[in-house]
Amino acid sequence: MKNLRPIPAVERVLQALGDAGLPRPVIVAVVRRELATLRAEKAIPGFDRVVDRIRKALERLRQSKIRPVINGTGIIVHTNLGRAPLGPDVVATLQRVAADYTNLEFDLATGERGERASYLEHNLALLCDAEAATVVNNCAAALVLMLRHFTAGERKEVVISRGELVQIGGGFRIPDILEASGARLREVGTTNQTTLADYARVIGPATALVLKVHRSNFFMGGFVASPSTAELAALARKKRVPLVEDLGSGAVMATERLAGLEHEPTPAEVLKHGVNLVCFSGDKLFGGPQAGIIAGRARLVAALKREPFFRALRCDKLILGALQTTVDLHLETPASGWAIPSGNADPERRAPVEQMLQVSREELRGRAAKMVEALAGAPLKAGIGEGKAQVGGGSLPRSAIPSVTLDLVPQNMRLSDLATRLRAGDPPVIGYLSGNRFKLDLRTIFPRQDVEVVRAIHRAMEAGPG
Ligand SMILES: *Cc1c(COP(=O)(O)O)cnc(C)c1O
Repeated sequence: MKNLRPIPAVERVLQALGDAGLPRPVIVAVVRRELATLRAEKAIPGFDRVVDRIRKALERLRQSKIRPVINGTGIIVHTNLGRAPLGPDVVATLQRVAADYTNLEFDLATGERGERASYLEHNLALLCDAEAATVVNNCAAALVLMLRHFTAGERKEVVISRGELVQIGGGFRIPDILEASGARLREVGTTNQTTLADYARVIGPATALVLKVHRSNFFMGGFVASPSTAELAALARKKRVPLVEDLGSGAVMATERLAGLEHEPTPAEVLKHGVNLVCFSGDKLFGGPQAGIIAGRARLVAALKREPFFRALRCDKLILGALQTTVDLHLETPASGWAIPSGNADPERRAPVEQMLQVSREELRGRAAKMVEALAGAPLKAGIGEGKAQVGGGSLPRSAIPSVTLDLVPQNMRLSDLATRLRAGDPPVIGYLSGNRFKLDLRTIFPRQDVEVVRAIHRAMEAGPG
């Protein structure tokens, strides 16, 4: 059936839309695009329906702006939710370095050009018990830089166990990174078994480096074996090839001391075992901004910094400033479990990811009880439940941290409707469905957000049946 209604004029639609909370050229572009789609569909609804449809498109676009959300998933380092949130000290640093000029590459003592991030690199090396350290955009960039550096000459082969040819998160596959870096992959062993002899057999004149990748986002059990870092380091030393370890998460604290967690190797530990260079992310368990940290032998770190490609991977003053404060806090925190005695014990100042790992279930239960009370009168059943929080972000896949949840069962809508409405709220609240309940894990919700969560739930319920 042919629809003969005319396409409404752009101006008329814009007037009907009013203020959509987006820059005007953006609104105009969306209106034009939606009208063009309607024209192509050759089925033009009434004016109000057209405006309604465009309003929804604008709202979807507006929702996609980066903004704070409340994380009730229990996944502490949630890559889709921006990984590690930053603490107040780090935020204060960001504010200061963002608004003013800085001594980023200026030596205040001489008044001449200075070295970028020298203080940060100095302290990072100290924290990792390394000769030297440096920073690039992320751990993937750190890997690419190292691979390119070591495979730039005649030696092109990167020796890696078949058990470590992993995919980490979306679009990050170790074999692809190797290929993109111009390296030739030399696989050894099998998926579940790789021996020292397997490595020894293939290391030869074509070997550029041996790469060890920490199996951070999955766990392999059963008939599984691979040489220890120390054994591999001894072999690499004997064969005179560099050994690089990609640790991924970069925990500097003793994770085994936290409830429910296994031991996660620290950068200092693997370097002590004889690895030449280690790399890890700044925004996973390290609790800082997105960055890729490289630590190890001074000669190698210096060579990496001389690579022309290093320039393309360098961080800006905001990241360097945020990381500098994160590192100093680690150095001051006894719970980091590192060798040198430290001064500051104020747990409030620790990176939020560390605080979330450490908060007790009693404390979470107390908060949940208050929230349940504050929800009295809303058309839903609210209760205190049990949850299993996770480190996430490809760290400690086997570790579940016993946690406490706020459990909701709405009386006038479906669970999925409640989830949708909470996501659409301001701020959006993200939870999960389990056992016929909508659950919000309190471990990943900041105590300061409890009131906001309660308010968001009231609002979602008020909106009436969906
Ligand atoms: C997360 C991870 C990476 C990627 O780190 P980004 O900082 O996101 O680039 C690389 N290797 C391992 C082992 C990881 O866990």
